[in-house]
Amino acid sequence: MTIGWHFDNSYSKLSNTFKENIKPTPVHDPELVILNKELASTLNLDFSKTDKKKLAEIFSGNSIPDETNTIAQAYAGHQFGHFTMLGDGRAVLLGEHLVNNENRFDIQFKGSGRTSFSRGGDGRAALGPMLREYIISEAIHSLNIPTTRSLAVVKTGEKVVRENLLQGAILTRVASSHLRVGTFQYIAATQNIENLNTLVDYTINRHYPEIRKSNSKALDLLNLVMEKQCQLVINWMRVGFIHGVMNTDNMAISGETIDYGPCAFMDHYDPKTVFSSIDKFGRYAFSNQPPITKWNLARFAECLIPLIDKNEYTAIKLATDLIDNFQNIYEDKWLNMMRDKLGLFGEDKNDKKLINNLFNWMEKNKADYTNTFCNLMDVNSYEIYKNNDFINWKIEWKKRSELNNSTKEKQSKLMKSNNPIVIPRNHKVEEALAEADKGSLDKMKKLLAILKNPYDNQNNIEEYQAPAPSSNEKYQTFCGT
Ligand code: AMP
Ligand code: MG
Repeated sequence: MTIGWHFDNSYSKLSNTFKENIKPTPVHDPELVILNKELASTLNLDFSKTDKKKLAEIFSGNSIPDETNTIAQAYAGHQFGHFTMLGDGRAVLLGEHLVNNENRFDIQFKGSGRTSFSRGGDGRAALGPMLREYIISEAIHSLNIPTTRSLAVVKTGEKVVRENLLQGAILTRVASSHLRVGTFQYIAATQNIENLNTLVDYTINRHYPEIRKSNSKALDLLNLVMEKQCQLVINWMRVGFIHGVMNTDNMAISGETIDYGPCAFMDHYDPKTVFSSIDKFGRYAFSNQPPITKWNLARFAECLIPLIDKNEYTAIKLATDLIDNFQNIYEDKWLNMMRDKLGLFGEDKNDKKLINNLFNWMEKNKADYTNTFCNLMDVNSYEIYKNNDFINWKIEWKKRSELNNSTKEKQSKLMKSNNPIVIPRNHKVEEALAEADKGSLDKMKKLLAILKNPYDNQNNIEEYQAPAPSSNEKYQTFCGT
């Protein structure tokens, strides 16, 4: 019985500048922790006849499927603003799996051993962070936000040394590609125009075939990536997601959310929210995500300059004009996204003020971001929403809703599809991970099941909706990767 892999490895056919040919390092005693059967089936993969031992062999990289051509990809990146040559230091791309001979997905192992890009690292990953990526990436997917996905996690049976000794693990990640802004930075840094052209053509063929025949491919590519990234960050702002480490190597050209490290969802609204322990200056704070997206896009633009126009001055002018428009595009889209969250149709000149008043109230009262919008949908009635200022704001909102020229049903439908009722709350994620570390997956599976339908009001999910008790210490995430 075949599993149904159908590999075609276009990236590994590129020249050696782009990658290192390397196999995953075999692991001692692999054990399957979780397999995403639903994702497997959308990939036309059938693991139902494969026993657990064999699955562990497959997803640990001990037994590599035929027709793969495993590589580590080269990339660079601005990490917290500083440029570094990087690459897959603990990941191996198995290849591209074709679904119905059409849709192409990278299949990558994360935590699969050292590569020539590992620098001082051990090439490995720990169980907690890999399961965390599994939970959050699947939650982001169910929130209808573009993202890489998680197919499986295995324990390696080996320990990894971090601050403590931790259980080693490997995550199988599925992505529409792993091309990053940092991939372009790596090739641009080698100053080889031929390779840069190759990368642009490769990217366009794979993600943006509509500009294949354009006479201004590089500029069009920049424009399309800007559009995708703008939409992505709008989506993050919509649900209160903080990526946490928006380095240019963690920004996918496809517009998918990628590289779940110290990410987390904001609970009470505070634009300065930062969870990552290493983000000392709040570079990647909630409200900094849009300007940082623009900053990263400017780094992408710099790579493309030699291909935008032969005249460097003209090229810089064209790219700058385009990137400078980011803020206008973002603000328009953001306003519309907020109108959707509030169930407002059409435009009114006071919309921005109405929205800002709500943000001011949330910030001042430390109101939970998710639950505030849920309250407007009558999903909850927490004490905080009996506050007079909030009630007065609601009166203004209701007045504005009357300009909708539409039905209450349509308004609530719009709100329902934009405001999640459940998000992966930090304390619930931690609780599930702590149990998983001890060997029980019950809590994680329950959490995953609830997060599958974040826009539906499910029965008995109150404990997943409530914010963490306020006695909780400030939540911190670690790159502990
Ligand atoms: P990340 O923080 O996961 O986005 O990783 C940033 C860079 O560090 C990438 O080049 C990774 O491959 C590399 N890296 C992270 N952790 C390790 C590790 N344990 N061993 C080797 N390289 C690593
Ligand atoms: Mg990364």
